[in-house]
Amino acid sequence: MFAYCSNCGGKVEGRPRFCSNCATPLSGESVSAANASGDARAGKRRGRALVLGLIVAAISVLLVCAGAGLVLAT
Ligand SMILES: [Zn+2]
Repeated sequence: MFAYCSNCGGKVEGRPRFCSNCATPLSGESVSAANASGDARAGKRRGRALVLGLIVAAISVLLVCAGAGLVLAT
């Protein structure tokens, strides 16, 4: 389990009270902040997947409509 110092950004092993690089008192805040940014990134990825899914759905609807039109024309 690693934590990152909120002051110097250094990687801190385990859960020490103070950063070994800059001696800043550490709390669980830096860890939760890192988790929050990870969630935001995951949310952006989910949004992109949603847009891709909508595009694929629109294309398939167009193809089905074109296919129906061909069947009616023949
Ligand atoms: Zn530090």
